[in-house]
Amino acid sequence: MQAWEEHVRKVVPYTPGEQPVCKDIIKLNTNENPYPPSPKALEVLQNIDGQLLRKYPDPEARQLVEELAGYYGRKTSEVFVGVGSDDVLAMSFLTFFNGQKPILFPDITYSFYDVWADLFRIPYECQPLDDKFKIRTKDYKKRCGGIVIPNPNAPTGVEKELSELEEIIAANRDVIVIIDEAYIDFGGTSAVKLLPEYDNLLVVQTFSKSRSLAGMRIGYAFGNEKLIKYLNDAKYSFNSYTMNTITAAMGAAAVRDDAYFKATIDKIISTREWTKQELARLGFTFPDSKSNFIFASHARRPAAEIFEALKVQGIYVRYFDKPRINNYLRITIGTDREMKALIEFLEKYLGENV
Ligand SMILES: *Cc1c(COP(=O)(O)O)cnc(C)c1O
Repeated sequence: MQAWEEHVRKVVPYTPGEQPVCKDIIKLNTNENPYPPSPKALEVLQNIDGQLLRKYPDPEARQLVEELAGYYGRKTSEVFVGVGSDDVLAMSFLTFFNGQKPILFPDITYSFYDVWADLFRIPYECQPLDDKFKIRTKDYKKRCGGIVIPNPNAPTGVEKELSELEEIIAANRDVIVIIDEAYIDFGGTSAVKLLPEYDNLLVVQTFSKSRSLAGMRIGYAFGNEKLIKYLNDAKYSFNSYTMNTITAAMGAAAVRDDAYFKATIDKIISTREWTKQELARLGFTFPDSKSNFIFASHARRPAAEIFEALKVQGIYVRYFDKPRINNYLRITIGTDREMKALIEFLEKYLGENV
């Protein structure tokens, strides 16, 4: 080790799902939307005035903030935007989890939370899910430095009832409770409606899944004015121009195209329900999912083997080699055609491997 390495901030980074270069694969491994973004958003991209790019973007991304505020019935001063919800969540960890007590989040959850906690030297304590992969309310009713709960949870897809989340938020009024709603649009009930009641609540959402814009990187959060002010102070102390001109304009157009948004979600939900039936028929078990993925385990075949067999076939799903979940596959809901190809292959594979 070199002498200077002693003073390096060392971190073990988050490992994102694979993004293979080959185009022919069926990609069900990173919870992307199988449908293209709103044509209205793409129109903005095609018609962008190049002269605009000469100038710095609006640091407040007002166009996007106003659109989001209008759509979700909040004031613009209650909206924060960032480069994907990863950016919003990282800023929130940095801003709100600045105490000595550990923050709490589930043991099986989005694997970026512990990475940010380590990066920012935030103490944390993981709370084990029960054996049905449910978050236990009582685990979050103790003194702590803050709470992060994804709803629905990832990678399980399990939704926690809003009344139970409210119980947690109400029991922790002296710290910030972040509800990460990356998958809320696929049938869950949003905590946005609790905002007027609780000044310690931050609700985070993203354009990456339900709005088909993972590649543009747009995330946002709702909270009371004071909380959002603190977040913006941290953001402007780091990089004022996180949202670029094109992204903000495309995001605003995507929000305006509500009909397209709802139609896309309806399609994904109906494909998900079909996939649930088919997986169950093939002997898979899974907690009920309210997201755009299913977390499934097979009674006879180990998940690691199915994962490899699928990959050889050009079908990518996600496998986590971690305690408690190493016999599960996280399968993103694709198009009907893609899910049929998955089920056809599994049927053949499981039939041959009794
Ligand atoms: C996908 C995901 C995010 C991050 O999404 P962005 O692309 O950064 O907006 C955050 N939280 C959870 C639980 C996710 O699954």
